[in-house]
Amino acid sequence: MDVILNNSRNEKINFINDDGVQLYLKREDKIHDIISGNKYRKLKYNLIKAKDLDFKGLLTFGGAYSNHISAVAYAANRYGFKSIGLIRGEELLSKYFDNPTLKYSSDLGMKFDFLSRKEYKNRNDENYLNELRHIYKDYYLIPEGGTNDLGVLGCQEILRSEDKVFDYICCSVGTGGTISGLINSSINNQKIIGFSSINKKYLLNDISKFVIKKNWKLNDEFSFGGYGKVNEELIDFMNDFKLKYGILLDPIYTSKLVYGVFNLILNNYFKPNSKVLMIHTGGHQGILPMNIFLKKKNLTTINL
Ligand SMILES: *Cc1c(COP(=O)(O)O)cnc(C)c1O
Repeated sequence: MDVILNNSRNEKINFINDDGVQLYLKREDKIHDIISGNKYRKLKYNLIKAKDLDFKGLLTFGGAYSNHISAVAYAANRYGFKSIGLIRGEELLSKYFDNPTLKYSSDLGMKFDFLSRKEYKNRNDENYLNELRHIYKDYYLIPEGGTNDLGVLGCQEILRSEDKVFDYICCSVGTGGTISGLINSSINNQKIIGFSSINKKYLLNDISKFVIKKNWKLNDEFSFGGYGKVNEELIDFMNDFKLKYGILLDPIYTSKLVYGVFNLILNNYFKPNSKVLMIHTGGHQGILPMNIFLKKKNLTTINL
């Protein structure tokens, strides 16, 4: 995994505000186009373990537009594993090649098994997983989103010693692995805030499995109607942000994070003169499928 260069760096985002809050963005999206940001972090130690234990393939779960699925397909191809994606939604079987994420992953050699929504719900059930391990003996099982102990361990490498100057660390939350790593590697007087578009009551539990510190909270006020949902205002925000700062956000995670942080700054949420670090976790591969969707509905698309 060390072939991938770590180009991550903090960039200042000039956002004028009355409280003198200083805002920075950690460009984890610079790590790699496909194994973007946190997906690289979460796969790193899992791939090392899979190689050590001499597994021949990687087996994982994901939705049809999942950044994790394409990251696993790419990593498997690059590091000499076979790969199988267990994808949510049986109806995709006959038309997955119309889906850019699945088409791309398939071109890299990933095979799919399309699960009903009912079966997909078992994705974290130990008995179900043991059945899978039995069927796919040569395959190393990675949970949805890459979130397990080793995934969290990789995410503990996102923050570096120079990041101790920040008072707040803000990130997007999906399955909770990324924020767990940030919490574990934070110092006590830092506050970690996760922005989620999933109802936070489920996540609180998942995150608590990986962390013991208490210096964190979840915010689900900027969900834009839920996971994967967008509206005209969010797309305009992404396009304005790109124009002003030259940085591309993604429609599922980081746009809602940055929108939320701007909003909190303007509402005097952060201590005056504090330093806030947002994590750009990548996710650019999700733009193409979103633009196809937006175009079909005759809505404004995301400028690349
Ligand atoms: C997967 C993903 C997340 C969510 O990370 P979790 O560790 O699942 O919480 C956030 N941002 C982007 C761009 C992602 O692809």
